[in-house]
Amino acid sequence: MLEERALSFEPYWWETQKKQTSLNSSLPENVDVLIVGAGYTGLAAAIVASDLGAKTVVVEAEEAGKGASTRNGGMFGAHPRLSWQTLSEKFGVETADQIFEEASASLTFVKRLISDELIDCDLIQSGRIQLAWSKKDHENQKQLASNIKQKSNVSVQIISREELSGEIKTDRYFGGILFEEHGGINPAKFHNGLMTSLIKRKVSVLENMPVLSIERMPRGFKVHFLNKELFVKNVIMATNGYTTNKFYWFKKRVFPVPSFLIATENLPKELIRELTPRGRMMVETRAQYNYFRPSPNGKKIIFGGRAALKPIPLKIAAERLKASLDDIWPELINYQLTNVWTGYTGFSFNHIPHIGSYNGINYAMGYSGSGTVLAAYLGAKVAYKTLGDRRGETGYSQTKLKTNLFHIFEKPYFLSVADLWYRNVIDRLQRR
Ligand SMILES: Cc1cc2nc3c(=O)[nH]c(=O)nc-3n(C[C@H](O)[C@H](O)[C@H](O)COP(=O)(O)OP(=O)(O)OC[C@H]3O[C@@H](n4cnc5c(N)ncnc54)[C@H](O)[C@@H]3O)c2cc1C
Repeated sequence: MLEERALSFEPYWWETQKKQTSLNSSLPENVDVLIVGAGYTGLAAAIVASDLGAKTVVVEAEEAGKGASTRNGGMFGAHPRLSWQTLSEKFGVETADQIFEEASASLTFVKRLISDELIDCDLIQSGRIQLAWSKKDHENQKQLASNIKQKSNVSVQIISREELSGEIKTDRYFGGILFEEHGGINPAKFHNGLMTSLIKRKVSVLENMPVLSIERMPRGFKVHFLNKELFVKNVIMATNGYTTNKFYWFKKRVFPVPSFLIATENLPKELIRELTPRGRMMVETRAQYNYFRPSPNGKKIIFGGRAALKPIPLKIAAERLKASLDDIWPELINYQLTNVWTGYTGFSFNHIPHIGSYNGINYAMGYSGSGTVLAAYLGAKVAYKTLGDRRGETGYSQTKLKTNLFHIFEKPYFLSVADLWYRNVIDRLQRR
């Protein structure tokens, strides 16, 4: 059993970052663009809309950043979850090509945003390795690498099982694929930097202002808050995994999947260097989808994964993730954890995000487990689109947000069945 003492249930990142005070005035009149949700999508959309001269306001149900954007693992990169073949079967060759091209374009865009806005978020181009859990996974990686080389200018490298010993001290994996341009950030610092950019532009981010409903009017929208309403010209929904049932059409298409993370106590620097000599970001092909990295100060290991597909007590999540971590690195068995936390990712049924418009409301969501790059990128794109700027063009407007027959209730109960299936069948089959 893990020691309960000193285990915090809040994200490690919150300890590294003093919360930015937002420009929190009252609701203004004559709003051109109202953005719902103050995560990466909403804040990046607000920067673009404001720079295009639109009177812009962001409203947030809780504190800004309390969604996924300050809780994530800080793995920084954008590669489509689906293969080129699958993308082309689902959405056509042109869209598949465009989405593959945008893997590199989106990364460049967000890196430039960080440097233009002088955001200090511990961005490091460490490279990210996808680790093959089986021989077959490694064979598939070779196919993926040749596909990526053909269809995009993303730089990838296959790493054999022998070469992997220079990357990670474990014999659990059969090889890997290295995304050289990917890296890591401190997610809370990135969010904070975007908030600062909005303060500089005098764009208000109004916290504790949940939007209750949005009514379409002849020349805009009436937006209803608790005890208030506001007429605005355009609305952008940026609520991803935190979309509420009041926005049923979206909730039926983007469902919340919890993800869990742990942080170890400070480890000896030599031990971290021995376990992960180049400090790469790591992600597994195994269905547990474990991902791990050193903290930006090089003292801790941050480790995430599918502890469950439904909310569970954080202490249990911590035990499950620590067991996986110790299995990869038995050297860590006697080290304690300082933090365990969770947050909601927003999954679409085809695991690809989408930007589009429903009943006149523009939206970008469905990042399906990633989003440090894509949420900021598509946030910017949806703002361009909303204001009729050609720079809003993207292959992600050709994807689709579909609902599914299994999703018949307000809550995604099908995830409880999937949780049982993964934990009792798939995880057991993949256990060694
Ligand atoms: C634990 C975890 C680990 C992750 N790890 C990684 C990773 O390592 N790398 C990676 O690329 N991605 C990762 N992700 C995914 C990534 O964090 C998200 O895709 C991204 O942050 C989504 O940003 P967003 O702005 O769209 O949504 P969010 O940041 O979730 O923001 C949505 C906001 O909308 C607000 N909201 C909802 N309804 C309303 C309403 N009615 N009125 C007003 N406001 C409302 C919510 O309060 C919330 O703040 C992870 C996610 C989680 C949860």
